[in-house]
Amino acid sequence: MGFHLFAAAALQDSNTNSPARGLLHELGIAQSIVDYAVSEAKSRNSARIAEIQIEVGELAMIDRSILSNALRMLKSGPMLDRCKFRVKVRRVSFSCRKCSAKWTMAEAMKQLEKVPQELLVREPDSKEVPLHFLPSLYPAFVRCPKCGSADLDVTAGEDVRIMRLVFE
Ligand SMILES: [Zn+2]
Repeated sequence: MGFHLFAAAALQDSNTNSPARGLLHELGIAQSIVDYAVSEAKSRNSARIAEIQIEVGELAMIDRSILSNALRMLKSGPMLDRCKFRVKVRRVSFSCRKCSAKWTMAEAMKQLEKVPQELLVREPDSKEVPLHFLPSLYPAFVRCPKCGSADLDVTAGEDVRIMRLVFE
């Protein structure tokens, strides 16, 4: 048994900006993850995958419960039947290019709550700020909480990564 650390697989495709994409998108990502893990297992002569650990960035526009369900749907055959899928969230961090301040998504969300509501596109009947629309909104509305600059970097939140594969 051994494990493989894999930190640079951006599996997100270019079709993630549509809020109407539904299950198919998560299913496609789940399939890519499983395909990758199976090909790694085969290349190591492993008969079975014990665990796949995945991190989903807060801005990746992936529903983690849908992704987990999609992974379970693909869990068939001797290679995967005992596989544990661990799907974690990877927090976004914002940083200011002017004063180097750093802040979190929670802080950015507080700023978005002050955005005039007519500028936000909402899911019907939702009282939450619509996360799905945030990636296109943050450059316009998020400011450095320390100096007020709009010149900012967003790190580590926009993709889906396989963090760890465990083979038996
Ligand atoms: Zn600043």
